[in-house]
Amino acid sequence: MTASRIVLIVLDGIGDRPHPALHGATPLSAARTPVLDRLAREGITGIMDTIAPGIRPGSDTSHLALLGYPPREYYTGRGPLEAEGSGIRMRPGMVGFRANYATLDPEGRVADRRAGRIHGTEPLSKAIEEGVDLSSFGVTFRFVSGAGHRAALALEGEGLGDGVGSNDPKKEGAPPHPFAPTSDLPADARTAAVLNEFVRQARSLLFDHPLNRERLAQGLLPANEVLLRGAGRMGHFEPFSERYDLAGAVISAATLITGIGRVVGLEPIPVEGATGSVDSNIENKVGAVIRALETHQFVLLNIKGADESGHDGKAEQKRDFIARVDGALAPLLDLPGTVIAVLGDHSTPCTVKDHSADPVPVLIRGEGVRPDRVERYDEFACAEGGLHRIRGCDILPILLDLIDKAHKYGA
Ligand code: ZN
Ligand code: ZN
Repeated sequence: MTASRIVLIVLDGIGDRPHPALHGATPLSAARTPVLDRLAREGITGIMDTIAPGIRPGSDTSHLALLGYPPREYYTGRGPLEAEGSGIRMRPGMVGFRANYATLDPEGRVADRRAGRIHGTEPLSKAIEEGVDLSSFGVTFRFVSGAGHRAALALEGEGLGDGVGSNDPKKEGAPPHPFAPTSDLPADARTAAVLNEFVRQARSLLFDHPLNRERLAQGLLPANEVLLRGAGRMGHFEPFSERYDLAGAVISAATLITGIGRVVGLEPIPVEGATGSVDSNIENKVGAVIRALETHQFVLLNIKGADESGHDGKAEQKRDFIARVDGALAPLLDLPGTVIAVLGDHSTPCTVKDHSADPVPVLIRGEGVRPDRVERYDEFACAEGGLHRIRGCDILPILLDLIDKAHKYGA
């Protein structure tokens, strides 16, 4: 019997380096992980450079590689992916941006880049969508709220470029920068002018918005400025279902990952209690995977918490989160006809507090897999595995072959 379904589990930022607080173990190797270890014992393991040896991957470029869309060909910046993840349907040629609500002080300097960690900005975004008018440029736009202080902007119109800098001064106490083109192209100069006008109009709408007046009355910081960054032009993505002949779904609390899934045509499945943080309800996400498999042959599950602990440098927290993830994955052990792959999208070592180029451990378990002698899922054990050292763009072809969906090369 050949398996017919694939579950790709990305433990975001799982890879790490030996940590002094863990007596030289990594958080993963220090964690109690009976479920992952059983999958490793029954499957084949290896280590993986998501992009290439020595390249520190972003979560966006790494997920594109894992889905078989080479990032050097398909990656045009974070903006269009965040915009798509926020629910904006990005069409090829649209220019997307990540946005933050921020607070300006009376002198026009940034007092808080996150507007007091504001939540519930939908009325503000609605006011901007309805009130800002860019028709003199022949440009239409969408502006939608994301989680917390985050939002996304997408511009559409003739002659727009994505070679524009940010207005974010990146520090408090400085005024926002005017948008400026990063090239001599007229399209980039035009886009900078559009953005300067967008922010000017948005500011005057936000200044007097009831929600901000209410916040001021409560002693909270008003969200009276929009900071934009990550400009990118939406490219063309051949739909996943046509490229691989599989109906796919994505389950992730991170807007960026949901956006990547959406641009390639994976159906996003929202999950109650999924936060993208260490407090996420992973049991609910695993339940959603099992339900999604009834109608989809491919499910991408992203679990974000370990990355956050890595960025915070909290090795014990990362270890304990991994142990909790392990328990939550147990219902996947007995799924019939399903190939399960578990891997990281990059390492986020607690000693580095950022992504590193250290390869990540990989395991693949399912019908037809040739097991190796590795009995544990961690950075050290998997380095001895039968997959040896692969790249991120190798994963999907290997999985497709296991479900008999790989094309024969030659006669
Ligand atoms: Zn990541
Ligand atoms: Zn990260």
